[in-house]
Amino acid sequence: MPDECVFCRIVAGEMPGDIVYQDEGFVAFRDISPQAPVHILVIPKMHIDSSADLTDEQQDLAGRLIIIARNLAEKEGIADRGYRLVINCRSEGGQQVPHLHLHLIGGRKLSGGLG
Ligand code: AMP
Ligand code: ZN
Repeated sequence: MPDECVFCRIVAGEMPGDIVYQDEGFVAFRDISPQAPVHILVIPKMHIDSSADLTDEQQDLAGRLIIIARNLAEKEGIADRGYRLVINCRSEGGQQVPHLHLHLIGGRKLSGGLG
């Protein structure tokens, strides 16, 4: 794990995180700078730089990210109204933290734009 990776440090318990879900392979925590009433990041514990770095063998891992987000949306009470799932990838995708993460954003009406 890259020592400087902020999300690996949250996984390792070396940095505080408002963790809302955890299992063997994944952690979900509230975004430090929320863009909506619900803004949660779902990450694999394993360090993967970005969606571009996923291998074909990680298909289940990629699917599991979405299922965890679906479950959290239910738990947060936003599933019926709807929400947005976002993965930013590398520089032109606006990725700031180079550890794969899925944003679960909701709890208000979101704008239609995708940037
Ligand atoms: P992205 O632009 O897709 O890489 O998103 C990175 C997200 O991580 C941003 O929404 C940040 O607010 C969030 N973030 C950065 N550091 C932390 C942290 N220590 N705890 C929780 N969220 C963080
Ligand atoms: Zn990492």
